[in-house]
Amino acid sequence: MPTPLPRPASGEPVTKDWPSLKPALPEFDLAVIGGGSAGFAAARTASGLGMRVVVIEGGREIGGLCILRGCMPSKSLLESAHRWHEIQRAREFGLVAKAVQVNMECIQARKQHLIGGFAAYRRKQLRKGDFTLVRGLASFLDAQTLLVTQGRKQQLVTASTFIVATGSVITRVPVPGLWETGCWTSDTALDADEIPKRLAVLGGGVIAVELGQFFARVGSKTTILQRSKRIVRNYDPDVSLELERAFKAENIDVRTGVKLLDVSKKGKGKKIVFKCGKKTESLVVDEILYAMGRAPALEGLHLENAGIALVEGKLQVNGQLASSAPHIFAAGDAVGPHEVVHIAIQQGETAARNASHFLLGNRAASEKIDYRLKALVTFTDPEIASVGLTETEAKAQGIDFLTASYPFNDHGKAMIGGHEFGFVKLLAEKTRGEIIGAEIIGPHASDLIHELIAVMRYRGTAQELALMPHYHPTLAEIVTYPAEEIADLLKPNAVVEHALKHM
Ligand SMILES: Cc1cc2nc3c(=O)[nH]c(=O)nc-3n(C[C@H](O)[C@H](O)[C@H](O)COP(=O)(O)OP(=O)(O)OC[C@H]3O[C@@H](n4cnc5c(N)ncnc54)[C@H](O)[C@@H]3O)c2cc1C
Repeated sequence: MPTPLPRPASGEPVTKDWPSLKPALPEFDLAVIGGGSAGFAAARTASGLGMRVVVIEGGREIGGLCILRGCMPSKSLLESAHRWHEIQRAREFGLVAKAVQVNMECIQARKQHLIGGFAAYRRKQLRKGDFTLVRGLASFLDAQTLLVTQGRKQQLVTASTFIVATGSVITRVPVPGLWETGCWTSDTALDADEIPKRLAVLGGGVIAVELGQFFARVGSKTTILQRSKRIVRNYDPDVSLELERAFKAENIDVRTGVKLLDVSKKGKGKKIVFKCGKKTESLVVDEILYAMGRAPALEGLHLENAGIALVEGKLQVNGQLASSAPHIFAAGDAVGPHEVVHIAIQQGETAARNASHFLLGNRAASEKIDYRLKALVTFTDPEIASVGLTETEAKAQGIDFLTASYPFNDHGKAMIGGHEFGFVKLLAEKTRGEIIGAEIIGPHASDLIHELIAVMRYRGTAQELALMPHYHPTLAEIVTYPAEEIADLLKPNAVVEHALKHM
């Protein structure tokens, strides 16, 4: 059990006597700092391996980002907005919908109800007794000891190995006048019970486009101001352009290559002055949603007391997720590089197994984290999903590949569903046509991508995918068209002919 410390005199952060109170041997095999997706996955894996595990969770509520302020609340809001959008298209499908309205209070109540249930389940899992749960904020006193502080209560936790799974925080990129004027972040936007008449979204990443489209669909005149040349830069440029096209069709104004110059109050509204190309422009809105990024939550951890130096504010880990102190691992948003839940879980599980190898003196058995099947999803409408390499990444890695794509607006089932935007794109290496990447922008992309994840998991080829039976008419059968095209190109001489054609 953790060692309680005597209450420090006011103002002192920790009693000076802590070294003498430290137990002779570490109480735990593994201390996991943070009980979110990565931390919980790590603790569950390690206790399954027979390790004595403690999880330290310092948040006001238990649940982690995904449940409390990330995936689940945002997807709940988006579901309401997308259904509202569908209802507005009722006439197109021969339906008459009457007296349907957006009610933000009810949308929020539904979200809150769902989140409450998910968080309660996570609390139950953490308190089930497979490991010790300690509430409070942890910081390193030395390489084996954590100080855990909750209010005036302080305890020591000693362990042989550690996993830093503290997640991320919203960054405050300096924009002149923005923080003085005030703005929403994703945290506040997710709890909004009013719909601003005019909304400016700063940023063009996944959170910006998801929440931007949510507010646009429930009634805000929305403008997205993005610093880079395109939105959703994690995908290929053709995907970004297609999302821009879809957004424009529903009157979301997307401005790219923007430099924010100044933000100030303007009556009851807020004024943003920005440069777009050579022109200086201004925009007055009722609210601003700041969605320009998050950074690892490492402040206050005092990793330096464990002998770890941060590099530009980041914790460096090797392929086995071990830091420069080989008994301290990291997982999830705290370390990146892909800040999404399934990767946080994969990293947490890998780090836990590697901590066990370390403990048993068998570091040679350590596993390397594998991002070959890295998948990313953006829950806009159309949805975007990718797995493996994008064209941009494959080119940067010097991989010789073939690619083919097929649009949803030429696919029977998508046409029946009234889906006008999007396409499926496959990438295959040239020797045997193994699929090395896929991008889908279109209806149900978040689900459709899983067939391609499965094919890639077993190193399937475009030809094998083309030959797999697909039910008709389904959205899923669309993947067979680019697969066939690539398979045809791989027939003897076809690759040469293709290359000649594109010279
Ligand atoms: C608006 C939004 C939408 C998102 N949507 C999606 C999505 O649809 N799909 C997806 O895959 N990802 C999504 N994400 C990202 C996803 O939520 C995160 O990648 C994931 O939750 C990270 O898990 P984690 O365990 O690394 O961190 P967290 O879940 O943040 O857990 C870290 C925990 O550590 C605790 N902690 C921090 N410091 C200390 C300390 N010093 N001592 C003790 N405890 C500490 C925190 O209280 C927290 O509970 C979204 C994120 C946002 C913001």
